[in-house]
Amino acid sequence: MALEAAELVAGLRATFGSGKTKSYEWRVSQLKAIVKLADERQKDIIGALRSDLNKPEFESYAHEISGVKKSCNLALKELHWWMTPEKAKTSSTTFPSSAEIVSEPLGVILVISTWNYPFLLSLDPVVGAISAGNTVVLKPSEIAPATSSLLSELLGEYMDSSAVKVVEGAVPETTALLEQKWDKILYTGSCEVGRIILAAAAKHLTPVILELGGKCPVVVDTNVNLEVAARRIIAGKWSSNNGQTCVAPDYVITTKAFAPKLVDALTSELEKFYGKEPLKSQDLSRIVNSSHFNRLTKLMDDEKVSGKIVHGGQCDKTNLRIAPTILLDVPEDSLIMNEEIFGPLLPIITVNKIEDSINVINAREKPLAAYLFTNDKKLKEEFIGSISAGGLCINDTTLHLAESSLPFGGVGESGMGSYHGKFSFDAFSHKKAVLRRSFAGDISARYPPYTTRKLQL
Ligand code: NAD
Repeated sequence: MALEAAELVAGLRATFGSGKTKSYEWRVSQLKAIVKLADERQKDIIGALRSDLNKPEFESYAHEISGVKKSCNLALKELHWWMTPEKAKTSSTTFPSSAEIVSEPLGVILVISTWNYPFLLSLDPVVGAISAGNTVVLKPSEIAPATSSLLSELLGEYMDSSAVKVVEGAVPETTALLEQKWDKILYTGSCEVGRIILAAAAKHLTPVILELGGKCPVVVDTNVNLEVAARRIIAGKWSSNNGQTCVAPDYVITTKAFAPKLVDALTSELEKFYGKEPLKSQDLSRIVNSSHFNRLTKLMDDEKVSGKIVHGGQCDKTNLRIAPTILLDVPEDSLIMNEEIFGPLLPIITVNKIEDSINVINAREKPLAAYLFTNDKKLKEEFIGSISAGGLCINDTTLHLAESSLPFGGVGESGMGSYHGKFSFDAFSHKKAVLRRSFAGDISARYPPYTTRKLQL
């Protein structure tokens, strides 16, 4: 396996060495190929996502396929400008001179992907790597086998196979890949495996982007439009892969007095969206596999949260389905408050004053995203100024990811580095400093002998 991985990387290095991936035309052809495969094979992609997660067709299109196409189309529109060297200022020290920053591709990139958005989170980093003129290996997640196999087929069929490869597999295959020297690794997944990736990369001094997870809080103030707030929390939690989303609301913080009103609003909107029997709804993804199903039911069975379920709680083990579930007033030392939930359970914790929620969040690891619903200007500014998270979204959830002008990435335990839009191009480029001088203006003061007079200049 290690030998195969070594040969694979050597082949890609030879392709990169030939210079073909550096041209504008090659990059454009590969970006167009991704748009083409997304258009021509849309039905197959939706089918694979149905098979892996019972993902509703709307979510497959809106959250995955259209996301990839949007990234390609932005790159196609902006690439020429992104590739143009950026003029830089010069000073009297180098006079006369001119300076520029040249974006050069890094070489051979490894993208290790995850299962929750297996099409988007595999191809979006590939779009960045290609835009920047690199060769790339994609290792999709074995936990979404239908999408992994389809990606292997589609990239083999539509893309330049001398520069873009897919390696399917699990831990042994990924370990063999990680033994190789890469020019950059982008990994999406858990913190635990993130540490393995970082350690393996360190051996080769390979830079990494780690897109990890965490517990994303939602603070709900008492002065909000409750119906809209409830809908937007639902959209980010249950209408996004049934909670199996890295930026999904993980827990809610509100005041003791307001919590029952929030529960009522969430319950009423949930029933409008998914009916009285949500386990039968075709608009909710299932849990990805039985091990995650068992992990989630264990969080509900914890004796510390017994009697705390105020909505939902129904499970269907055979079909791996769990209904949208709300738990009220869960203790901080319960299991559910001490791991990333990554599923359809939403605990609500309460504080006396809404301002206290900032300390609750800051007492934990830095999350990938944090949300605030309020009309209070002062609270908004305090939240933005004092919460450290990958990204923030005020009066909505998850939508900050839809803006390609914003970087997407974590901080602390939620990750390092970022991508999306031009940040993806920059993430897979080296910013080469270039200073141009002529033979004019040669000043003797910089050369030996170092006289006292020269020191005073
Ligand atoms: P995971 O870390 O188990 O798996 C991700 C990838 O790592 C897979 O391709 C897998 O094959 C590989 N892998 C697993 N174990 C490995 C090992 N020991 N050595 C080498 N490679 C290994 O993560 P997961 O359970 O698939 O993903 C869930 C986590 O991902 C959650 O924490 C979630 O928040 C996070 N996530 C983050 C983002 C983001 O963009 N920040 C997006 C989606 C998910």
